[in-house]
Amino acid sequence: MDDLFIEEEIKNLRKKIAYHNELYYKKAQPVISDYEFDKLVKQLQNLEKKYPQYKKEISPTEKVGSDIEEKAKIIPHKVRMYSLENAYSLEEVKSYLSKIKENFGFFPNITLEHKIDGFTINLFYNNGYLKYATTRGDGFEGEDVTENVKTIKSIPHEIKYKNSIEVRGEIYLPIKEFERINKEREQLGEKLFANPRNAAAGTIKLKDSNIVAQRNLNSTIYTVGTFENPEIQTQKQLLEFLKANSFRISKFNHTVSSFDEIEDYCELWDKNRYDLEVEIDGIVIKVNEFDLQKKLGYTSKFPKWALAYKFKAEEKETQLLDVKFQVGRTGAVTPVANLKPVFISGSTVSNATLHNADEIKRLKLKIRDFVTIIKSGEIIPKIIKVNYDKRSEDAKKIKFPEKCPVCKTPLCKEEDGAIFYCNNINCPAQIQKRIEHFASRDAMDIEGLGEAVVKQLLENKMISRIEDIYHIDFEKFRTLEKQGVKSAENLKAAIENSKLQKFHKTIFGLGIRFVGDRTSRILTKHFINIDEMINAEYNDFLEIEEIGEKIAHSLYVFFHDEKSLLMIESLKKNGVNIRSEKKNIDNKLDGAKFVITGTLQNFSRTEIKEEIERFGGKIISSVSKNLDYLIVGENPGSKVKKAEKIGIVKIISEDDFLKMIGK
Ligand code: AMP
Ligand code: ZN
Repeated sequence: MDDLFIEEEIKNLRKKIAYHNELYYKKAQPVISDYEFDKLVKQLQNLEKKYPQYKKEISPTEKVGSDIEEKAKIIPHKVRMYSLENAYSLEEVKSYLSKIKENFGFFPNITLEHKIDGFTINLFYNNGYLKYATTRGDGFEGEDVTENVKTIKSIPHEIKYKNSIEVRGEIYLPIKEFERINKEREQLGEKLFANPRNAAAGTIKLKDSNIVAQRNLNSTIYTVGTFENPEIQTQKQLLEFLKANSFRISKFNHTVSSFDEIEDYCELWDKNRYDLEVEIDGIVIKVNEFDLQKKLGYTSKFPKWALAYKFKAEEKETQLLDVKFQVGRTGAVTPVANLKPVFISGSTVSNATLHNADEIKRLKLKIRDFVTIIKSGEIIPKIIKVNYDKRSEDAKKIKFPEKCPVCKTPLCKEEDGAIFYCNNINCPAQIQKRIEHFASRDAMDIEGLGEAVVKQLLENKMISRIEDIYHIDFEKFRTLEKQGVKSAENLKAAIENSKLQKFHKTIFGLGIRFVGDRTSRILTKHFINIDEMINAEYNDFLEIEEIGEKIAHSLYVFFHDEKSLLMIESLKKNGVNIRSEKKNIDNKLDGAKFVITGTLQNFSRTEIKEEIERFGGKIISSVSKNLDYLIVGENPGSKVKKAEKIGIVKIISEDDFLKMIGK
């Protein structure tokens, strides 16, 4: 492989991993399975091992993702919290154990535990009292969630043991409780939690402990951090000690001394896991004796004395009853499979996404076919296979509509893509979805403005566009079916609050095609306010790192569209936040654009980027007429020649730059 290509590949993998880490830990809304995630990390590990020259910064292969939100109170852990190495087959488990056996010269005692799919928690007790509770965070420090944790009945506020001790385990929502909460949310028109894990993670970070208390979280404790007690020498003894100190431990823990027993235990629980009150996603295999654990030690991320055997996603066969076509907020038409309801991975499934027309072609799918489905990442059901030999004679071809199923506008196809769009900006289906998106959690976060309420408002002609939500007639709203004084007050307050959302959330909420949460954050780092975006040229967008032609085009079109501009004008008038927090920005550099070439003395690439941004400048990706300054370090590249050729670019040294920012 070409070196440049490898460096690029490593960079991309890092970015991808950081992105999925953020979704998993901060948002509790992963879009890929743990298995797929681990595959990315493995790929990166292999490349970094082979090409150590590119492994400069701290790599995500060495640290665990962080769940810490920006404004939280942070408390350092007394002893680091590690993650667990995963194994996806019993062969991997076997080879792990044979290495250990070889290492010791005998097969050690192993303690087997359920791997609870919950939210990891750290509880600190001193003098017998619960002092605080924190999340795992990045493994070194976590977020203070004491008040919420105190509402959990199975977590003792007081224990017998008087010395300082960090106690660790999982907080989880029992499946029944998860279903109850989702039913309630559905009735309120709120967004549903994808699975119990996300629901638990979302709950533990709520600002209102009263709501947490209503959610019946439970806990399973399995380990400790800081703790000194010479009497406790094994994992088994530790579990008994924890139980004697009023903690809730799992009743399924089991200590064994052969691979066969481990295999049996894994297979037993793979089969019976859906009978439990809690979701488990695997079995944790731990060397029992602490002495032996010490001998094995840790990697930068995992204990070497433990391994998580992860269950495979469950597969089920069912029948395709029909395919419906849904119109999304961007007008994209997606086929959705209507399935004969089946119970899979703990819940009943009757729909699966088919993504686009090509996916239907690829699967050669027909209506009434028997299909195999899995819940990918235990979240979104997916058809992975069509069982053609069961196809009956009356199987029916799936016809992709030529017109929008809602407004009947003829559909058109993007040039290179497989997706069909309804291009009618007034299409009622799109309007509904756009408003839902604007109000959603990652955008303006307007609680109470979910699918059902948006529909009600549209049907009663109280709104017809996004900006109308700032003019809702609440006197009238009160009188609508299922609404009242209280719901009107709550919605009014939530809408009022939304005006203070961060700038990147507003941008995300606008629903610009291809502009997701991540791109919105990138944009609001580059542009101080929305007017700068409106005035930007296509090339200004393109110059931003990570923004390619497709997104740049979409941005340019959006900010030159009359309807978008009217919407922005109206949002502005209503006081919606359309600018970045400028707190730390000293505008010395006044929007000047920089490119760096060669090695700098005082800064890494990330540091110089931060420094330039801190003083109100920006880094662009290439030398062009738009560039203001080229900073030249040691061993510069061809960029210098290019800049000299253009002429108007100022070529400066690192010292010159330091002077510019007054250092
Ligand atoms: P993962 O988050 O997929 O890397 O899995 C590692 C995590 O599983 C640990 O950090 C724990 O939070 C969690 N876990 C769940 N059950 C157990 C258990 N019985 N022992 C150790 N860790 C567990
Ligand atoms: Zn339409």
